[in-house]
Formats: sequence, structure tokens, C-alpha cells
Amino acid sequence: MRRLALAAVMLLGACSAGPAPSQVVPRSAPAPQPANASTVSAAPSSSAGAPPSCDATASLRPGPLPQAGQMPEGSTMAKIAQRGRLIAGVDQNSFLMGFRNSFTGEIEGFDVDVARQIAKAVFGDEKKVQFKVVTAAERIPMLQSGAVDVVVRTMTITCDRLKDVDFSQVYYQAGQRVLVRRNSGITGVEGLADKRVCVASGSTSLGNVVNRAKTTVSVPNWTDCLVMLQQGQTDAISTDDTILAGLAAQDPYTDVVGARFTDESYGVGVPKGQEDLVRFVNGVLERMRTDGTWRAIYGRWLTPLGPAPAPPVARYRD
Ligand code: GLU
Repeated sequence: MRRLALAAVMLLGACSAGPAPSQVVPRSAPAPQPANASTVSAAPSSSAGAPPSCDATASLRPGPLPQAGQMPEGSTMAKIAQRGRLIAGVDQNSFLMGFRNSFTGEIEGFDVDVARQIAKAVFGDEKKVQFKVVTAAERIPMLQSGAVDVVVRTMTITCDRLKDVDFSQVYYQAGQRVLVRRNSGITGVEGLADKRVCVASGSTSLGNVVNRAKTTVSVPNWTDCLVMLQQGQTDAISTDDTILAGLAAQDPYTDVVGARFTDESYGVGVPKGQEDLVRFVNGVLERMRTDGTWRAIYGRWLTPLGPAPAPPVARYRD
């Protein structure tokens, strides 16, 4: 009996030295929100004042592509060639599009392969590219400051953005949908009217959904939204089907629901005033479409979205 009591005391002692977390944190304690999460109350003003006559997806016609390693003198491409590497702004948080492979540490994905094709066209070597990780909100400032040569990061071409940066032709046609926890009962964007939705700040997704949900919270990265969904802090995530397919692949207890309710035409972002680089990138994208590279890159990354569609048709304004 005495021995038993002693054993009990020792056990208690062990407990007070290292209590299990569930004994310390009451179950009702709210989980912390991701850093920089904020509630968005109304449609952002950035959607106001778009040029009325803008034909957003019509880009500049490419000339014949110069041979790799022979960029025209004085061109933006020649400056990149002199530096010895292309600097591309990409994502590291969107599985399938731009993400860090946790085994190799390499950044990979559909967008990353498009950036590599641009580097290959300049240098003849797709490895001559330096990736700078940018959030959705950092894309335009990074182009404007010249910190990157191009942005290849699920970036929708819009008239509003065309005031600040230029775009290539459309290299991928995405559309916004909704991601929910399995068996949530939400079947599409119409079901969000009395629900909470999570979006990334600086994305078109935010403006597209803010007036269709009861509350909208914005966070820096889409993976922050996934954590909030898993913790029950949001009812849904709404963004491009490409990004949602990546999140759904990372969490089998989620489903992408409802039809696409927007058109998100992805373009390569280029700083304003670099027409030669826009035409060059368009030449690279033309070649990728005709020589099968586009289809191969789709097949490498995007089959969770279904079989490869035809690549987007180029549209030019001059
Ligand atoms: N395509 C949308 C945009 O350009 C969403 C992409 C993202 O947030 O990564 O804003």
C-alpha cells in the first residue's frame, strides 16, 4: 500500500515537471490566427478607376525570337544576359504552381517552369534564373522597383494592374472557385452569404468574393487560409482553381465546390516601359504553345485539374 502511494506521488511529480499540452491549454482556447490576418469589410477601392476601354488580355505582337545567347544590343534582354541570370518573382506557397519542394529545397511548379523557359530563351540554359519569392501583394511593387525582371505568379491580367505594370499574352486560363471542408454543406459561391471566407491580400480573389460572403479575412499566403480552414477559423477559401487544386491535394479532407465564377487570365508581369521584353516573352510563349512545351508543363503539374486543355489563344493589340 505504501509502495503504491509512493508510486502515485512520483507520478504526480513527473506530471508537474512536464504536463501534457492538453492539460495546460483549455480546449476552448482559440487557436492563434496567422500573422497579418485582417478582416476586410468592403470591396477594395483598387477596383475603382480602371480604364474603361482597356482590352486587358490583348498584348504586344512578338517579332522573330532572337537566338539564345544573342540578345539584340541595348535591349532589356541584353541587360539580363549581361547579368548572367534572369530574376523571376514566383510563389513558394502554391503547390502545383509555385512551391518549395520540401525534399530538395527547390522551387517548382507550372509558373516556375514558365519562368525557366524564358531563361532558356535568353541564355540557352533554363537554370540561369534566380527566383525571388513574392506574395500576391508584393508582385506589383517588386516589378515597379526593378527588384525582378518578370513576375510569373498566378497573376491575373486586369485593366487596373495594367496602369502599373505590363503583361504578356495569356499563358493560362484559370477561374475562381471555392474550397471547403468535406461535408460542409457549402456547394459553391452562392452558399457563402452567411459564411466566413479567407483570401490572400493583394489578390483579385479578394475583390471577387468580399461582397458575396458574410465576413472576409485576408492573409499573406493561401496556405495561411488552409490553416484557418483546418482550425475552423474560416468556412471557405475562394481563389483560382489552380491554387485550390494545390490546397486540396495537400488536405484530403477538403473539396473544391461550385463552378468557376470568374475568368482569371494569367500573364507574365513585366515592368512598365519594357516593350521589347513583353514581345520577347510573347515569342517564348508562342513557341511553347506550338512546340508542345506548354502541354508538357501542364502534364507535369496540372493534371489534378483534368486533362490538358488547348493552350490559350494569343491576342495582340499591335
Ligand atoms: N489570380 C489571382 C490574382 O492575380 C490570385 C492569385 C494569387 O493570389 O496568387 O490576384
